[in-house]
Order: sequence, then C-alpha cells, then structure tokens
Amino acid sequence: MLSPSLEDYLEEIYRFSLSLDTVRVTDISHRLQVALPSVTKALYKLRDYEYIKYEPYGEIKLTDKGKEYGFYLVTRNQLLQEFLALICSECNFAAEAEAMEHYLSAATIDAIKTLVEFIKSHPSWKEEFDDFVQIRSKENLL
Ligand code: MN
Repeated sequence: MLSPSLEDYLEEIYRFSLSLDTVRVTDISHRLQVALPSVTKALYKLRDYEYIKYEPYGEIKLTDKGKEYGFYLVTRNQLLQEFLALICSECNFAAEAEAMEHYLSAATIDAIKTLVEFIKSHPSWKEEFDDFVQIRSKENLL
C-alpha cells in the first residue's frame, strides 16, 4: 500500500496520462502545488515500487501496474464525490473526497459503491430521500 501522499501523486499522473502523451515533473508540481525536488523524490519512490518508469529530466510513464492502480485511485475519488452528492452533503465534494479517500478500507469503498449503484438504479428511492432531506433542512431553519 502506498502512503496517502504517494497515492495522490499516482492519481494525478494517471489523470494527466489520460489527456497528455507525456507527463512531466513540472505538470505534477503545478497540479499538486509541490516543489520540484519533492515531486522528484516521490517519483523515485513510485519507480521503486514499479508504478512508473522515470529517469531524471525524462518523461514519466506508467507501468501496467501503475495504470491499474491509477485507474483505481481516480475511480475511487469519483465514487466518493458521487456518494457525497447523492447523500446531499453540502460540502465541497472534491475537498471532502480528498479527505476521505485514503482512510477508508477497501471493504467500505466496496459498500459505498454498492450503495451508490443501488441509489442510481432506484430513482424513486432517491426522490423520497431528497424530499426527506428538504423537509429536514426546512425544519432546522425554524
Ligand atoms: Mn488524495
């Protein structure tokens, strides 16, 4: 298992790899707002774990293992944002998913995935839930 910080690096590398042919250290540095030496250090760790191929000043390439894990990380983040929207949380979805994602077990992520699928395939249930949320928020204003 990677640390939360390394997971975030891999997640962003994967995101970039979807739209860019070559991912560079500066891209990651800008996106995560981290100084270049820290990015380079993280890249060496990801390389040691065989998630990426990387040489100093070269381009960053995901290995098959890196693509697989990167896909999982991006999907997990999307799932959590979707979950927060479905339960009508008034939080900042991106920031909240970021706070949650590294600390939930795979079992809980799976359970949330099942719940999200259930809600999406039961629109009437979702409508009833939304009404319930609305009524409650009005009550709380009184
Ligand atoms: Mn994260």
